[in-house]
Amino acid sequence: MSKKFASKPMSRRSFLRSAAVAGTVAASSGALAGIGVGKPKVAHAQDVTWAKEADVVVLGSGTGQMAAIRAAANGLSAIVLEKAPFAGGTTGISGGGIWVPNNYRMQELGIPDSREQAIEYMSHATFGQSTPELIEAYVDNVNLMVEFSRTLGIEWDILPYFQDYYPEFPGGVPEGRTLSPISTIEGASGGGALVRMLQAAGEELGVEYIFNTAAKRLVVNPDGEVIGVIAEQDGADFNVRALRGVVLATGGFDHNPEMVTHFLRGPIYYPSAVRGNTGDGHLMAMALGANLRNMNEIFGWPVFVDEEAGIGANALATELGKPGAIVVNTRGKRFFNEASAYDPATRSFYDYDNGTHTYENIPAYFIADAAYASRYTIAYRPPEDNPFVTKYDTLAELATALGIDGAALEETIARFNEYAAQGIDPDYHRGESAFDQLTGGDRTRTDIANPCLAPLTEGPYYTAKILPGSLGTCGGPQVNANAQVLNVWGEVIPNLYAVGNSSGNPMGGGYPGGGSTVGVGMTFGFIAANHMAEKA
Ligand SMILES: Cc1cc2nc3c(=O)[nH]c(=O)nc-3n(C[C@H](O)[C@H](O)[C@H](O)COP(=O)(O)OP(=O)(O)OC[C@H]3O[C@@H](n4cnc5c(N)ncnc54)[C@H](O)[C@@H]3O)c2cc1C
Repeated sequence: MSKKFASKPMSRRSFLRSAAVAGTVAASSGALAGIGVGKPKVAHAQDVTWAKEADVVVLGSGTGQMAAIRAAANGLSAIVLEKAPFAGGTTGISGGGIWVPNNYRMQELGIPDSREQAIEYMSHATFGQSTPELIEAYVDNVNLMVEFSRTLGIEWDILPYFQDYYPEFPGGVPEGRTLSPISTIEGASGGGALVRMLQAAGEELGVEYIFNTAAKRLVVNPDGEVIGVIAEQDGADFNVRALRGVVLATGGFDHNPEMVTHFLRGPIYYPSAVRGNTGDGHLMAMALGANLRNMNEIFGWPVFVDEEAGIGANALATELGKPGAIVVNTRGKRFFNEASAYDPATRSFYDYDNGTHTYENIPAYFIADAAYASRYTIAYRPPEDNPFVTKYDTLAELATALGIDGAALEETIARFNEYAAQGIDPDYHRGESAFDQLTGGDRTRTDIANPCLAPLTEGPYYTAKILPGSLGTCGGPQVNANAQVLNVWGEVIPNLYAVGNSSGNPMGGGYPGGGSTVGVGMTFGFIAANHMAEKA
């Protein structure tokens, strides 16, 4: 049975403040349509009766689970509200990797790393859109978060690939910083195992998970403090009071077409995040005047597309960068290093041609020769009888069928082949970085000069369409080193925290290494919980 709680009356000062807030949010009401048309965008304490209360209320059960679990371990009560019928979000379908510089597994194996090196690396790999404050908060807390997870029974091991994505940047380390969770759950691995291990630990500590319940609006008291949330359950309001804070952990805005159109630098296709990630947390924070960061950015990856089935599958260096294949645009030209990490690779799709007014690399086509097809997969499947793949006997047929400039394609492949035979790629430097060699290349091949490069020599040729996609948008409410949300004047919005892809991500405009997104969401959830525990 729900418990009801009384709330304080509204003062004249707060009434005037709320009128101002209502004015500022009117302009963005279109994007708000998904979270409650016709309702006030911020609720005020006097209008609310509470169904539940806890010290900490977390909205979203992906990486946000860590905030609730750590809060419970700190002796606070915690509730997780989740829109979906089960926990996990995109974190639950992810690889579950986390990027942890100077981690305990590296120390055990004697791989050198340091706080200073990690900070230096992040300052380059966040591409100018993070801050020293956030970078230091991450580096100083991520190992504490990992140690805490180990007390919950979650152990980690070094992932054999997808390590630092720019290992040649100052402070980069080619191998060791990306950890993968060791599953203790039969039949589950990666992110699926991680979220289930977290949920089990949370429930053990008394965290209450409430599913099929979507947060809609934040509730503020007359002093402008966030004191709870209006959620919706079975079509009715379900209001939860938060005594110490609300944590926005609702993921990105990948599935809010209006936000995608108006914030991102270009289109994204077949976004891989769970469908419930419609920017709800962003909108709730914007309604309180939150400042925004990185709204132009995505954690990007290219996707192979099966248009008939309407599905995308991530197209990563582990396939694109294997010897005997290239990616070209419809002009028959290569345009990026196919063996590089997916996030920087995705940037290359947004070259705009101001003559034809098109993105010249959308769509693109992966092309592999018969030797590739005999050894490797495409979209995680064998190339034959593969819904993502079409096969042509000759390059000329392939070009005609796909609308690619055939003469240019022949030229591109001739040039690529000439250099690939020597183990070099003067155009895009494929196979030069330690990342390419570790993740994209095939180091078992002794017949080629570079594990990422082999000429495309014999048909049939296998091709798959590729478009730029996302594994999550990464912009959102600006946070400080305590994960507290800041307003447009740089002031803390009291009791409001944001983590993961519903925050202006501390990874800024980059993706330092495998596990950067799950790692940062869990770490800032850990930080937020500690901050709430320290409050009087
Ligand atoms: C196949 C795949 C593999 C990946 N592998 C990795 C990896 O190994 N390492 C890595 O770092 N990243 C990886 N990523 C990216 C990573 O999964 C996401 O960036 C990360 O999980 C985002 O975490 P989050 O907590 O911000 O969002 P999510 O995990 O998506 O959680 C958000 C949750 O909020 C819920 N929600 C939304 N709106 C509301 C609302 N109004 N009220 C209540 N709940 C709401 C959603 O239902 C969802 O459960 C991968 C992604 C994919 C698709």
